[in-house]
Amino acid sequence: MDKYIESVYNRVVEKDPHQKIFHQALIEVLESLEPAIKKYPQYKEYAILERITEPERVIKFRVPWVDKDGKIQVNRGFRIQFNSALGPYKGGLRFHPTVTEDILKFLGFEQIFKNSLTTLPMGGGKGGSDFDPKGKTDAEVESFCESLMFELYRHIGQFTDVPAGDIGVGGREIGYLYGAYRKISNYHGTGVLTGKGAGWGGSLIRPEATGYGCVYFVNEMLKTRNEDIKGKVVVVSGSGNVAQYAVEKCIDLGAKVIAMSDSTGWIHDPAGIDREKLAWILELKNERRGRIREYADQFKVDYTVTAKGTPWSLKCDIALPCATQNEVDAKEAKMLVDNGVMAVGEGANMPTVPEGIEIFLENNILFAPGKAANAGGVSVSGLEMAQNSQRYFWTREEVDAKLHQIMQAIHANAYKTSELFGKKGNYMVGANIAGFLKVADAMIAQGHRV
Ligand code: NDP
Repeated sequence: MDKYIESVYNRVVEKDPHQKIFHQALIEVLESLEPAIKKYPQYKEYAILERITEPERVIKFRVPWVDKDGKIQVNRGFRIQFNSALGPYKGGLRFHPTVTEDILKFLGFEQIFKNSLTTLPMGGGKGGSDFDPKGKTDAEVESFCESLMFELYRHIGQFTDVPAGDIGVGGREIGYLYGAYRKISNYHGTGVLTGKGAGWGGSLIRPEATGYGCVYFVNEMLKTRNEDIKGKVVVVSGSGNVAQYAVEKCIDLGAKVIAMSDSTGWIHDPAGIDREKLAWILELKNERRGRIREYADQFKVDYTVTAKGTPWSLKCDIALPCATQNEVDAKEAKMLVDNGVMAVGEGANMPTVPEGIEIFLENNILFAPGKAANAGGVSVSGLEMAQNSQRYFWTREEVDAKLHQIMQAIHANAYKTSELFGKKGNYMVGANIAGFLKVADAMIAQGHRV
């Protein structure tokens, strides 16, 4: 690695030695920026790397709430306001027991470049809590969301910071958060949160956007090799928001999805998940909040617990990891390659470990990193903000067409940039550099205090 880049990396590690996941995200980005840093000396002169790796603000707070037995519980809340050079901080809230400052710094850092790629004016941020909504009653989730908003409201706003959903934060949670925000602030600021219900300020296609966008991106990659997703066999991990709509778009475009999962296990349906089965999954996951194992009982297919292996052992043309970070290890990447995978699209954030990415790239597999492939979600969040500002709504078709256009533009930009920097078809290099250049130039233009 270039000495200057290495010194920036080492400085971050020395300051926060325990933030391993953030370091993983950092090194992946920094390494791929090397050709850009060499080509444009101004970034070193203006200390862009030193600045961009340090969040503008880290907010950490206590969230007390009352459980169903009347007991007071305490969780931790966070908001990482990482970079606002391009616009208000924008990024989801994650509710999961594994949430720490480390995880949110990784996600916030990725979000800077992802948001830059979308072509929309949004900075990067991320937030959440170690609260686990799984197994909680609606009243408990509401109590928690209200308490979180008691603190968060003072840090957010349509021109300041606009949170959305992520793992564990879907339509139900955004509803409670938005209700609490309105009560506290006495302000119907629809643009303060995205992922709202379509009847009260939300955008059509926002729930579908990340999954749809990921499949649009994969299809663009396939076109560069004169291929198409139609007729391809697809394995999807996860069964949450991103996974559900990635599967729907695969079905729309004529592909066959043979597997989905959750954190406890995965189902293998060789006949393919059709629209009817997918509707059943949506009801299972979004209404009954059940486990994917029930699909195996319902449709008489195989179910395997995670401890005994993952769906990456299945033979497929396309793999879409849509669950969580580091869910595809090197061994699994090798298995996918040996089984003939053609393209991998990261619906989740950083689901492939660095050694796994190496394996995909060495074997000339089309590999779409999360910051490009899953940017459709935040893109439609940006479109939701635009509609809120106009006090107007676009139709499903209009939003979907804009999403499709944005994903095509992100693909073209990442592809062209990879070529410009001598790594044609390496979407990781292309996306990281393209995302970085816009933010870095904005930071230089705005002076040394940003
Ligand atoms: P959801 O909470 O809706 O779904 C998450 C899914 O992943 C669930 O099936 C969950 O299973 C599974 N999962 C979570 N943690 C683990 C784990 N440790 N091991 C295995 N499976 C796990 O979240 P989303 O679909 O919204 O998010 C999925 C990914 O996509 C995340 O990486 C997120 O950051 C990323 N993303 C999301 C966007 C969005 O718009 N929602 C936008 C861009 C990226 P279980 O129910 O058992 O926990």
